[in-house]
Amino acid sequence: MTIAIIGAGIAGLTAAYTLVQAGMNDVVLFEKSPVVAGRAATRWFDLPRGRAFVDYGVQYFRTESPTFSRLILEKLPRDTLVDVTHPVWVFDRAGTLSPGDAATNTQEKWTYREGAAVLGELITESAHLRIHTQTSIGMLQWKQGRYALIDEDGGALGDYDAVIVAVPSTQAADLIALSAIPNLEKITLEGSLRQAVYRRCITITLGFLRPLQARPYYALVNPTRDHPISWIGFEHHKPGHLPDDCAAVVIQMGGDYSLSHWDWGNFELLATITAQASELLGEDLRESDFVDVHKWKLSQPDRLASESAVNGVLPSLWFAGDYLRGGRVHLAAETGAAAAESLLIGSR
Ligand SMILES: Cc1cc2nc3c(=O)[nH]c(=O)nc-3n(C[C@H](O)[C@H](O)[C@H](O)COP(=O)(O)OP(=O)(O)OC[C@H]3O[C@@H](n4cnc5c(N)ncnc54)[C@H](O)[C@@H]3O)c2cc1C
Repeated sequence: MTIAIIGAGIAGLTAAYTLVQAGMNDVVLFEKSPVVAGRAATRWFDLPRGRAFVDYGVQYFRTESPTFSRLILEKLPRDTLVDVTHPVWVFDRAGTLSPGDAATNTQEKWTYREGAAVLGELITESAHLRIHTQTSIGMLQWKQGRYALIDEDGGALGDYDAVIVAVPSTQAADLIALSAIPNLEKITLEGSLRQAVYRRCITITLGFLRPLQARPYYALVNPTRDHPISWIGFEHHKPGHLPDDCAAVVIQMGGDYSLSHWDWGNFELLATITAQASELLGEDLRESDFVDVHKWKLSQPDRLASESAVNGVLPSLWFAGDYLRGGRVHLAAETGAAAAESLLIGSR
């Protein structure tokens, strides 16, 4: 049985891993970007004292789901898996800081020494996955019970007995809209996928070749979503991420702020956001040594689509991704494993 998986984020990779573990050998992934792991994204900066790794998407992952917990704690190599032990504190609309929920803060916050993206590399290596990177799928063509995959330039990428679409819902809906599949199912699928809505997130990184003030927390979050800033994380609290005596701060802006400032240039964004973060932290962050700006158009879903409304609509076509269970790595992984299990059951 030949299986294609579209998207090599954590959902697609977990789906592929599950299939390969179950003995399916003819599994191939197509990923539009040059690297795997999707929003579990890490950028590195070569500094005079060594390399800095900055997680500018996923900050850390939890092992709240048994599927994901087994994957990272039992099946994948653990030698570079690290727990961010410092707590996450909260801030309110007025910028007042307080310790976060004690129970939540006792849970592990996992990442890898060289960043969250390592998770994608480990899944790929452990299952010897075949991945075509820099290959964007433009459409599917239903052909006598099989699916032909066509890239964005119209190039044919082969026919498959089953397909798992593991891209964010907006991109999945666009893909379905362009696909040559039965019309009624196409309308049903596109409508169901468009139920999910993602928020935007402007993220900036400020890096320093000097230590910052010592703090009793690793990160700050605004749980009530009424401050322009939604998250400030101190990457130097993550083991292995920064050379000694260097620091990096990741600042994520809230959905409303990100939407209303989407067209701002990087220079303006850096200046404005740095000033807001400096005020919140009571520390001047303006003299940074390396910076980055990233605009996540599809950051995390605010509204989900129904898993049962998209899976099983067309035979051997399954969907996975965080828009089905929630914007978390372990939930994305769960949907990938579930799509793979459904495919396996259907193939028996
Ligand atoms: C700023 C930010 C902070 C976050 N913080 C956390 C956190 O701290 N903890 C946590 O658990 N989660 C966090 N999340 C959420 C988490 O990143 C996601 O829930 C999870 O990574 C989603 O995985 P996925 O596989 O569903 O999608 P993605 O990671 O988006 O993967 C989809 C992949 O499909 C590819 N693709 C898209 N279209 C095509 C196409 N046509 N052809 C081929 N490939 C295609 C994309 O390039 C991408 O690699 C955060 C997300 C963001 C953006």
